[in-house]
Amino acid sequence: MKPIGAVLLSAIAALGQTTSSPARRAEPPKSVRLFVLDCGTLENMDARRFELKPEEVATNRMSVPCFLVAHPKGILLWDTGAVSDAAWKPTGAPVTHHLLLSASQPRDLTLIKPLNGQLAEAGYSPADVTHLAFSHYHWDHTANANAFARATWLVRQVERDAMFSRKPPDLTQPSAYEALRNSKTVVISRDEHDVFGDGAVVIKLAAGHTPGHQILYVKLARTGGVVLSGDLYHYPEERTLNRVPTFEFNQAQTRATRVAIEAFLKRMGAQLWIQHDAIANARLRKAPEYYE
Ligand SMILES: [Zn+2]
Repeated sequence: MKPIGAVLLSAIAALGQTTSSPARRAEPPKSVRLFVLDCGTLENMDARRFELKPEEVATNRMSVPCFLVAHPKGILLWDTGAVSDAAWKPTGAPVTHHLLLSASQPRDLTLIKPLNGQLAEAGYSPADVTHLAFSHYHWDHTANANAFARATWLVRQVERDAMFSRKPPDLTQPSAYEALRNSKTVVISRDEHDVFGDGAVVIKLAAGHTPGHQILYVKLARTGGVVLSGDLYHYPEERTLNRVPTFEFNQAQTRATRVAIEAFLKRMGAQLWIQHDAIANARLRKAPEYYE
């Protein structure tokens, strides 16, 4: 945990920062830190889209977290939320936000703090983010992407091709990531991509939900190994009851991927953080606190 004084100092430093002064960059940490950011909560989700009966799930809410991984060699932002900071105004109290997806599906979200404000409280500005990756291209993971177009984007070719195709897939929001078209891009072609070269932050292919869906393994000195699930599962009941969402790119591939990732978790002795699991997410410490 960060001492309160350090939090205040970094928040004050962040307030004085503008995007045009990259000289005032956040100090790199000595060891890896994982910040959990609250990028909203999806309300009234229909369990049946996840092959579950409403009575089989503990809640119909889904958390929408973003994660900042601060490594001595750089800073990776993993997923960027469901609603861009520009699209709503914080009031200090939870804000209900309605949106309509391109497939004419309405969604309700509860938002509390903008992503940028949470980064600032943790001592970072968007200019500090050196690397950007999404678990996958769906709208609820890409909303603030354009704000991080200066970072190096880590993506699979099949995923990028779909995002910028003439007819992007359902559940994408192309305007949210349009600026990434010209970003410095690293196309990941292997199963695993070691982001900073020391095995501490590894992006791993977990295809099925989308063709280039991926998860993130983070090795933390005190917490141990953590795997950020992306949408490998949404409800934890998908994992315990062996159910697969109805809207997968490839359901059979998802089933095979889940078997492989469960083996990976065992091999690495890592815990799985299911990103959309609202109950588990509520128990996680949020930025400016962090895991190390
Ligand atoms: Zn999602």
